[in-house]
Amino acid sequence: MEIINEGPRRALAVTPHPDDCEGGCGGTLSKWIHESETEVVVVLCTNGDKGTSDRDMTPELLAATREREQQEASDVMGAANVVFLSHPDGGLEDTKLFRSQVVRAIRMYKPDIILAIDPYRSISHTHRDHRMSGQVAVDSAFTYAWNERHFPEQITEEGLEPHRVTEVYLWGSEDPDVFVDVSDYLQMKADSLTKHASQMRGPVEGRLERVTNGAIRSGEKAGIPYAEGFRRIRFEIGSRDWQYLSC
Ligand SMILES: [Zn+2]
Repeated sequence: MEIINEGPRRALAVTPHPDDCEGGCGGTLSKWIHESETEVVVVLCTNGDKGTSDRDMTPELLAATREREQQEASDVMGAANVVFLSHPDGGLEDTKLFRSQVVRAIRMYKPDIILAIDPYRSISHTHRDHRMSGQVAVDSAFTYAWNERHFPEQITEEGLEPHRVTEVYLWGSEDPDVFVDVSDYLQMKADSLTKHASQMRGPVEGRLERVTNGAIRSGEKAGIPYAEGFRRIRFEIGSRDWQYLSC
């Protein structure tokens, strides 16, 4: 177990639906942006066009609303950019197209760390899009993005270069092993979630309390008051395996 204080130079958050990344790592992204000057880019995989029980709402209008909400929520945190992949809600698959899009974002924004939803669970179940986005995020970081033989047209035709991500932080994990102290960023996390107005249930006034309660539960595992927890995967750069795989 480790408590992380410093943010990386650059981080890329791969979120399946609008609002998932704010709920999972909004405090961490806000802290890194404001304390470590981390350049954060959010990759929004789906347009969230099925996230309603309102039968009069059209998928097109909902998608437009939710993509705008994602931009506003990212602006609250201070994210540098949002990449909209616009797959249909519930339609994420581990396809070559989806992998190529995440690889392109990695090669374009060169993150040190990728944040995504933990796709591996043994006790609880999670949305299919969550599993697909987490799996593709990890696979894109290791090995597709740094091997120039994957999606070579991005290099020969788009001017991108292979890029090595050093770590992936998975939120929503059953076994978090790194924690970020988000004590000073609970309000910012709540404010960013509030921007997802089409998805938020319950009064705005109670949001900070709900965010705080979640941070207390994570903090108990780390021995600090308020935290967000992640399962960390480190890609051992320089190791024999890495050298072998990079051939
Ligand atoms: Zn979701």
